[in-house]
Amino acid sequence: MRRVDALKVVGEEADSEDAVVVVHLGFPARELYHVYDRPLNFYMLGSMGQSCSVGLGLALSLPDDVEVLAVEGDGGLMMNMGILPTIAQESPPNYSLVLVDNSAYDTTGGQPTPSERIDWKSVAKAHGMTYLRAEDERSLRDALRRALREEGPHMVHAVVERGNADVPLIDMTPHEIISRFMRALEKRVKDR
Ligand SMILES: [Mg+2]
Repeated sequence: MRRVDALKVVGEEADSEDAVVVVHLGFPARELYHVYDRPLNFYMLGSMGQSCSVGLGLALSLPDDVEVLAVEGDGGLMMNMGILPTIAQESPPNYSLVLVDNSAYDTTGGQPTPSERIDWKSVAKAHGMTYLRAEDERSLRDALRRALREEGPHMVHAVVERGNADVPLIDMTPHEIISRFMRALEKRVKDR
């Protein structure tokens, strides 16, 4: 499965449940913006590894019936493994960590990560997350539907090919991204 196709599935499934999406920096943010932009997507333009933390904060501060998908790369999550005990402690029912795993730092040139040596299922279970693995678009869609509808927290492990899609830069300023997101979030909470 190509990462850009996985991100399109994430966008579609999030949209069908009006879920919040926080997506990490670099090409994945650009790819999601290109294939499934929506106001409830928050694009992290920097801060590698922090979408799982920002997503956790959102899940904890939002009502439990507003789902949050925190999309993080394998390299990003390995930079911020310290968030996992906090996920275990807080155990938000509306939080899913979507680990988009290409076993590489692809935005910076495809340097390999040790992700293939890590038992992510055990990591998820050790931190109180239900683990769902997906290697193609159909299983990813099924996993996301479960994660969005069943009580969390979940880790959705999307195994993807290496390689970046040929997509342009995000043509919104950071201020435009956060303002649009905050307005959409306010409306999402008000409309429930
Ligand atoms: Mg990666």
